Amino acid sequence: MTTNPSLSTITLMTLLMCLSPTLIKSEKGIDVLLPISLNLTVLTDPFSISAASHDFGNVTDENPGAVLCPSSPAEVARLLRFANGDFSYDSESTTSSPGFKVAARGQGHSLRGQASAPGGVVVNMTCLAKTAKPAAVVVSADGTYADVAAGAMWVEVLEAALARGVSPVTFTDYLYLSVGGTLSNAGIGGQVFRHGPQISNVHELDVITGKGDMVTCSPKLNPELFYGVLGGLGQFGIITRARIALDRAPTRAKWIRILYSDFSAFTRDQERLISMANDLRVDFLEGQLMMSNGIVDTSFFPLSDQTRVVSLVNDHRIIYVLEVAKYYDTTTLPIIDQIIDKLTRTLGITSEFMFVQDVPYFDFLNRVRNEEDKLRSIGLWEVPHPWLNMFVPRSRILDFQKGVIKGLLLNQTATSGVTLFYPTNRNKWNNLMSAMIPNEDVFYVIGFLQSAGGSHNFEELENLNDRIINFCDNSGIKIKEYLMHYTRKEDWIRHFGPKWSDFSRRKMMFDPEKLLSPGQDIFN
Ligand code: FAD
Repeated sequence: MTTNPSLSTITLMTLLMCLSPTLIKSEKGIDVLLPISLNLTVLTDPFSISAASHDFGNVTDENPGAVLCPSSPAEVARLLRFANGDFSYDSESTTSSPGFKVAARGQGHSLRGQASAPGGVVVNMTCLAKTAKPAAVVVSADGTYADVAAGAMWVEVLEAALARGVSPVTFTDYLYLSVGGTLSNAGIGGQVFRHGPQISNVHELDVITGKGDMVTCSPKLNPELFYGVLGGLGQFGIITRARIALDRAPTRAKWIRILYSDFSAFTRDQERLISMANDLRVDFLEGQLMMSNGIVDTSFFPLSDQTRVVSLVNDHRIIYVLEVAKYYDTTTLPIIDQIIDKLTRTLGITSEFMFVQDVPYFDFLNRVRNEEDKLRSIGLWEVPHPWLNMFVPRSRILDFQKGVIKGLLLNQTATSGVTLFYPTNRNKWNNLMSAMIPNEDVFYVIGFLQSAGGSHNFEELENLNDRIINFCDNSGIKIKEYLMHYTRKEDWIRHFGPKWSDFSRRKMMFDPEKLLSPGQDIFN
């Protein structure tokens, strides 16, 4: 078992590392010395190496040669310039380009080693957030944006913004992810239908390219880099600062779950809700499944209703849960209940299976933290997570439900974890960004968030994922995977489709030695 060394031990180890050259490995397995003159804060102790070799997915294990704990973006730039063959640092290394790999690591909540750098250097982005001056999150004087160190977590951005009465507009379900990590993917959740993903709500970025250049970029300034890194899977540069859009913050949320046994009614209401533009428009919309072959989590519902919810699931085998939230504050407090009433009347919902909680805005956004605490307490957090996330075109959602949900998922003897199921709008995504979505105005976000452990065998879950993908392929359902990990180049080319040529051209522009984020397995 790895134990956590004390801070003083780490400080001492850090000092020792700074005083002696560090040995790492190039891609070809050749030893490379990081010279002392680079003046980098690198760690090679077993604890640091082990922590950087794992991620949330708990499937891969890739040791880096060293972990950089930078105290300034300039340190990251020096590392990358050296890796590109800049020997002005009096290198004791080889005479050719060292060519070792470098990966930024935020919270390491990747699923398949995407933030790893086998033999190379993992850059711990939380170090940069901790030393950011004047702070990791700086809200502008007018409260319209925040400048955020990319290693900061979204929960920190939210806390700092709320202290000023403002808030980001769009969130991931879980807030303990780094800003740089979600911007490298997309950052999606129940506000996307209205505000777009997190990558659509960034004004400006500071990026250190794979060549080691420090560049500020925005839609007007160096747009090629700006759009490239948004959803760019860490391939073009390391984001050190992001300017995040903010808006006035509400104080509370009416958090509603409505249960459906009829799939068509469920999706009809979901789609109607994401297309509304009047005062009935909700602020958050998601959905999930409750199945009789899974654990039916009734904790959201009043104690007195939990038994009949379980019976409903058992009777129908599958229940679709529509989840919405409507925010409010002191100004809208007098009318919020009328709005909820009007909304349910418009949808024709009977109150029999509709449940409402009234919670502080922060608690609503931070709701998954409770799930994390529960899973940790029963030892189901640090287990393998063969998650499968995808976007499914609306036109094929019924085929998907019949073939995958009823045909495959419901036929498993047991399922583990949550299945997310909700539509969102394409018009909030900018096609110049690297992120990929289906080519339809409305598409569904589907997440099979299964955990191995207990009676759930990892290989069986992987096998189920393969069958889901095969079903979609064979039925011509043109899904786009999210947070995917492919090992074959042709799969990446297929994933990016018409954007592949731009994606590879940007790689040549910003990271020609192909050093960055090797764990994504795109250009190795
Ligand atoms: P890491 O795992 O550290 O890194 C991910 C990738 O980004 C790596 O390739 C890394 O090299 C690169 N990277 C990291 N920081 C930077 C940087 N500063 N500059 C450039 N590249 C960088 N995603 C959603 O969209 N919506 C959700 O609701 C959601 N919920 C989640 C819930 C849980 C419990 C978990 C574990 C994950 C969830 N995710 C969700 C997925 C999450 O967005 C991604 O895994 C994201 O990458 C995690 O951020 P991180 O800081 O842990 O990134």
